Amino acid sequence: MSDTQPRLHLHDSRTRSTVPFVPLAPDNVRVYYCGPTVYDLAHIGNLRAMLTADVLVRLLRHLYPRVTYVRNITDVDDKINARAHANGESIADLTTRTIHDFHEDLAAVSILPPDVEPRATHHIGEMQDMIRSLIESGHAYEAEGHVLFAVNTYPSYGALSGRTPDDLIAGARVEVAPYKRDPGDFVLWKPSDDQTPGWDSPWGRGRPGWHIECSAMSQRYLGESFDIHGGGSDLLFPHHENERAQSMCCHPHGRFANHWVHNAMLLVNGEKMSKSLGNFLTVRDVLRDTPAEALRLLLLRAQYRSVLNFTREGLNEARQMLDRFYRALENLDPMHDAVPAPDSVVQVLCDDLNTPRALAEMHALADAAMAGDSKAAAQLKTAGNLLGLLQNTPEAWFRGDAKVDPARIERLIAERLAARKARDFARADEIRNDLAAQGIVLEDGPQGTTWRQA
Ligand SMILES: [Zn+2]
Repeated sequence: MSDTQPRLHLHDSRTRSTVPFVPLAPDNVRVYYCGPTVYDLAHIGNLRAMLTADVLVRLLRHLYPRVTYVRNITDVDDKINARAHANGESIADLTTRTIHDFHEDLAAVSILPPDVEPRATHHIGEMQDMIRSLIESGHAYEAEGHVLFAVNTYPSYGALSGRTPDDLIAGARVEVAPYKRDPGDFVLWKPSDDQTPGWDSPWGRGRPGWHIECSAMSQRYLGESFDIHGGGSDLLFPHHENERAQSMCCHPHGRFANHWVHNAMLLVNGEKMSKSLGNFLTVRDVLRDTPAEALRLLLLRAQYRSVLNFTREGLNEARQMLDRFYRALENLDPMHDAVPAPDSVVQVLCDDLNTPRALAEMHALADAAMAGDSKAAAQLKTAGNLLGLLQNTPEAWFRGDAKVDPARIERLIAERLAARKARDFARADEIRNDLAAQGIVLEDGPQGTTWRQA
């Protein structure tokens, strides 16, 4: 990092303060984010966490020569087992399809893939090694086929989330079970019956608890100490508290995550999103009638630690802002293509990822560009690169092509063909109907399937 570059300041959930970000090793900044549990489509709350990570990693890549970004996939979980059973499909079919859809949704919103995307089921050995070591050091115990972490063996338990052990129990966020020595103890390993996925272990055939998955995968790819661990604020307790307890007890000389980043929640029309309120929105629900870039911009209009209220009006405003930016880009002179990202934008992003101020700076650049300043237009474009915006040409944006992703449609056509070959006509019809709802008409002919916009 050069001396002239602005210094990144990030809020740290553990110390509850905004501090200068100091990498453990500046030649390789290491970031871990908790990825999805793959049983259902991503909703826009999930998207906010993935997008916060994307903006953070884009900025880190701008500031440092190398960044290693790991985001896991939880593909063993009781919610997955229950959903596969309810759908009457295999766990493998459910997780494969959900991972595919997740990747597709994130790509639509220009979220870059992580460097490593480990799957929990591929790292059971590492989890068992950690559990064994925690038992040997007296931090975990075996009871009725379960292995539990004994929270009272880690005096700093609660320090990350700021809760005391009494709060934890009073909050009834813990499951009381007869085999637990303390109600706050949590599961590292649990038994599986014949109907449930399981692996052989010294404690019988079973499967890991959720928290140990992230501890094992972060250690495998990032080491005992790494720079940033992030996720939605809903993960702070118990998930991240438990990850930290396990990892710190396993590696007392490591630091686990040096810095914790949590984004605030997302509301829909001022209310918490829930299936029972009927305001539960998947990424696909929104993208059916909205360009993906407008959704991305809407989510960036609030700083990640502020609660974000998603509304249709907000989405329309985001669209109008993009109209304005793309109008300004019509003044782009190809000679100016290679300008560096403007300091004004980098500086405000370095202030704890202040994306609303970055967008205000982009508006100022758009003003100058529309007044004929072609360098400002070029700077607007590079600022857009930093935020994952303005990746279309103005022509494509104003034609409305930005809504249609031909590669995605081709993939869905291939998936529909495969479904028909497998005589899964329900899935084939679902793909046709989903595309129709997005204004894409499929036409089957002797040469195969083609598509057109309705
Ligand atoms: Zn995690």
